[in-house]
Amino acid sequence: NQQFLLAARPVGLPKREDWQFHEQAVPEPGEGEVVVKVLYLSLDPAMRGWMNEGKSYIRPVAIGEVMRAGGVGVVVASRSPRLNVGDHVMGGTGVQRYWSGPADDKTANLAKIDPQVGHLTAWLNLLGMPGMTAYFGLREVGQARAGETVVVSGAAGAVGMTVGQVAKQMGCRVVGIAGGAEKCAFVVDRLGFDACIDYKAGNVGAALKQHCPQGVDVYFDNVGGEILDTVLTRINMKARIVICGAISQYNVTEPVKGPANYLALLVNRARMEGMIVFDYAARYPEAVAQLGEWLKDGAIQSHEYVVDGFEQFPQALLMLFEGRNLGKLVLKVADA
Ligand code: NDP
Repeated sequence: NQQFLLAARPVGLPKREDWQFHEQAVPEPGEGEVVVKVLYLSLDPAMRGWMNEGKSYIRPVAIGEVMRAGGVGVVVASRSPRLNVGDHVMGGTGVQRYWSGPADDKTANLAKIDPQVGHLTAWLNLLGMPGMTAYFGLREVGQARAGETVVVSGAAGAVGMTVGQVAKQMGCRVVGIAGGAEKCAFVVDRLGFDACIDYKAGNVGAALKQHCPQGVDVYFDNVGGEILDTVLTRINMKARIVICGAISQYNVTEPVKGPANYLALLVNRARMEGMIVFDYAARYPEAVAQLGEWLKDGAIQSHEYVVDGFEQFPQALLMLFEGRNLGKLVLKVADA
């Protein structure tokens, strides 16, 4: 087996030395156990947070431990009635080529997936964690309704793409915010967003005014920082702001100030609320059913940006913070 272990807690962007490449034999499965060959790994901005010490919504990865990651794979050995050799599964496999352990392991949480419902990498995207985040964040926390204006940042990324597409299905006006003309063109021309603002091109405030003539009812925030602050200046009465993530701040080395324009919440009796996808775990099947149906109908798409090669992991993770991924960043580990 080959694994990436966390070697040190990074300061700023993770460096190569923060990882240790480790090799060991794959154990034979014991009674009730399975061995899963990992095919694809999910690379997530959240991984940066899991590398830090301190209290969060999940315990930090320990030094010397296999890096936590979601993956899809195929069962290659089984001594459990729960899973058969050849079954495709998803779960917390970690950054390694093979996962082994009890088929009902509570941490890995292996679940059988149906490649007929969605292609394998879609289970790390639309039908996986980012899709669940978008679906429940928009509907339950954002309380989006037909006719409202939804703004989403990180619009060309995994969560953002699905937020915008689901909001369109719900009858909302959708304005994305993303870095670069190519990404903006993609979400408008290919995914059907009404407009997309290239934040790297400059004046986000003026562009919001132009593209959201009725103001902003729901802001789904994936990036935090200045973009959040600017959107706050355009919110409507009773607006809902979903705090999903703040990738602009994950690698900062200086303390960050909160939004300066937060009094817009008071003026507009608006609400800003954090969400963690895992709180909706019991309802994932509901979202998978709906998103899977839309995927099958061609009503919405699941786009992945695949980097090939397990050993690419340290550099590939950084692509998220450089904005080099269009769609969900996935690492291909082995052929299906
Ligand atoms: P993405 O696929 O959106 O990839 C990250 C993108 O963030 C990059 O492509 C880049 O796009 C953008 N970005 C990077 N740095 C900056 C910056 N400084 N300012 C603005 N944008 C930046 O990742 P995900 O869809 O997986 O995750 C999106 C967000 O959702 C993250 O904040 C993540 O932590 C959060 N999340 C939260 C969950 C929850 O339960 N609360 C669950 C899953 C994800 P660009 O080129 O446009 O800058």
